[in-house]
Amino acid sequence: MSDCIFCRILAGEIPSTRLYEDDRVVAFLDVNPMAPGHALVVPRRHWTDLASVPAGAAASAEDLETRAALFEAVRLLSAAAVRAFGGGANLLQCTGVEGGQTVPHLHFHVIPRAPGGPVPPAFESGAARYASDAERDAVAARFRAAIEALRAEGR
Ligand code: 5GP
Ligand code: ZN
Repeated sequence: MSDCIFCRILAGEIPSTRLYEDDRVVAFLDVNPMAPGHALVVPRRHWTDLASVPAGAAASAEDLETRAALFEAVRLLSAAAVRAFGGGANLLQCTGVEGGQTVPHLHFHVIPRAPGGPVPPAFESGAARYASDAERDAVAARFRAAIEALRAEGR
């Protein structure tokens, strides 16, 4: 997609600091890093987000290869972040505007966390505690129903 900034980066129309590439996936440094080495792992296929990745019967052989290559590249970049910077790493994937996604081309953030570096951003653990067990169970039931529906649809 010519109006997609990541498609343009992958095509070489916009410069990037590349870390890794293969037939299906490219990794490059984030221009606005949360930590030194903050990388983006991006499939060459333009999928908007994780929710729009083809699944089930809708997934072609190439889709399946890309899905596998994407996970492999995320694994590789995470292992390399640990090797290179001697600490840990965070993965971040934002799906949808509500999820904080600003570039609508699927990508995973690999954020190296060096020893002694800044504390990773808090994800506000406990910020949405359930008011009751019944509320928790209702949320779980709604989630499970969506999982079952997707599986029934072959997705
Ligand atoms: P999102 O919020 O969609 O998960 O993350 C998009 C990321 O892409 C942001 O961290 C942002 O800094 C990065 N980004 C946006 N435009 C460019 C660009 O032109 N080059 C690079 N290298 N990163 C970009
Ligand atoms: Zn794109």
